[in-house]
Amino acid sequence: MACTVLKFGGTSVADLDRIATVADIVSARAAAGEHLAVVVSAMAGETNRLVELARQAAGEDAVRETFDDEHDVVVSSGEQVTSGLLALALRRRGMPSRSWLGWQLCMNTDDDHGRARILGFADSGLPEAVEAGEIAVVAGFQGVTARGRVATLGRGGSDTSAVAVAAALGAQRCDIYTDVDGVYTTDPRIVPKARRLERISYEEMLEMASLGARVLQTRSVELAMNHGVTVRVLSSFSAPGDENPGTLVCSEDEILEKQVVSGVAYSRDEAKITLFGVEDRPGVSARIFSLLAAAGVNVDMIVQANARGEGQANMVFTCTHRESATARRMLEEARGEIDFERLEVNTDVAKVSIIGVGMKSHTGVAETMFRALYDKGINIDVISTSEIKISVLIEASYTELAVRALHTAFGLDAA
Ligand code: ASP
Ligand code: MG
Repeated sequence: MACTVLKFGGTSVADLDRIATVADIVSARAAAGEHLAVVVSAMAGETNRLVELARQAAGEDAVRETFDDEHDVVVSSGEQVTSGLLALALRRRGMPSRSWLGWQLCMNTDDDHGRARILGFADSGLPEAVEAGEIAVVAGFQGVTARGRVATLGRGGSDTSAVAVAAALGAQRCDIYTDVDGVYTTDPRIVPKARRLERISYEEMLEMASLGARVLQTRSVELAMNHGVTVRVLSSFSAPGDENPGTLVCSEDEILEKQVVSGVAYSRDEAKITLFGVEDRPGVSARIFSLLAAAGVNVDMIVQANARGEGQANMVFTCTHRESATARRMLEEARGEIDFERLEVNTDVAKVSIIGVGMKSHTGVAETMFRALYDKGINIDVISTSEIKISVLIEASYTELAVRALHTAFGLDAA
């Protein structure tokens, strides 16, 4: 069907004034003849408030890792409110519109509450309504389980709702309206000369998203890639009539001029764990990482090297700050079983990465990266690579210097 899915995030629907602006944007597009489904998030800050309420009602002192259906009933309600408010604002402008909650859309999910996965859509009448010219205002972030219970898709999940609705409707594009005007080569707060990218491939966007450039929920990018949904990231804050092309997230072959490096990402939420003098025999690594996996520790970089001692190795890996505490506890407890001399946790580290599909076909990228860091006197601790990414672990205080140096070294600075 020739239709477009629009999505508005929390800051875009933060209050009634913002919702009025959104209603103006949507009405103008509908008046120009577009058939639209609009997915909305909760008002900014609302989901946090609801999560806290649910926590207090359940009498829990710590933030939970697993959730149940009643938790989802509470935290999904923010999106119900904004979908109704936007539908009202559209009707006020003379536009035929109707709100759709997850169960009304028949967006079926599994029952992993708090981070449910979308299984598919059953017949709901949504495509027919959009086809007939009604503006469908969809509550993001929520679906329904086989048992008929409300389930939420994980924080930031409205992006995933929007892409899923776009795939289900066969929409020509999914426009994600947010508070920035696109995806940048790096964080503009660190590098004022950062540039908006016209296009970025799904693969690059996945690396950017999971590396801390939080524009889109990672899962939404995966879904878009798997279903070939073209996504556009653009601003809901630009003045009407202003050119607002945003950034297209699309497949690699739709990008004619490929950059070797498209962006520089960084993350300060990194911890480096070193196991000194681990017994060097088959099965030890498997045992260490299966213990960590069982404890829910998501390991990122891994390096193993020979240690001074005969038959010993040093093992280095990284994870988030929060998980490093769990990792330390697990490993100390397993000491009887896994023999090592000493354990060290360093949270004073950051990961800086360069990302680009052009790397697949260019040589010398790593050399340029390492030289740029060396020129600034930055020591590289751990290195990891993939086909389209090189990451280094460095001392946290050098993060900004490193990001700037790399942005310049790969010719990304705006003129
Ligand atoms: N309201 C939900 C959240 O804050 C979902 C979203 O905004 O995408 O995580
Ligand atoms: Mg978001």
